Amino acid sequence: MAAVVNDSMCIGCGACEGACPTGAITLPDGVAVVDPDVCIDCGACVGVCPTGAVTLE
Ligand code: SF4
Ligand code: SF4
Repeated sequence: MAAVVNDSMCIGCGACEGACPTGAITLPDGVAVVDPDVCIDCGACVGVCPTGAVTLE
């Protein structure tokens, strides 16, 4: 399990990247990408995303 970003909903604001305590999120092409091996399922990114693009699956 890890956070998952819906590419079509992400506006590249970077809020999730800043909120993530483990550095699991990067924006290599202007869209957030989660490294599932680094994500600890804390949910911080879900709460800060303005478009609801991030979910925990
Ligand atoms: S759930 Fe937590 S650890 Fe995982 S990507 Fe989101 S903020 Fe980072
Ligand atoms: S907080 Fe949401 S809209 Fe902003 S970069 Fe992350 S996934 Fe994309």
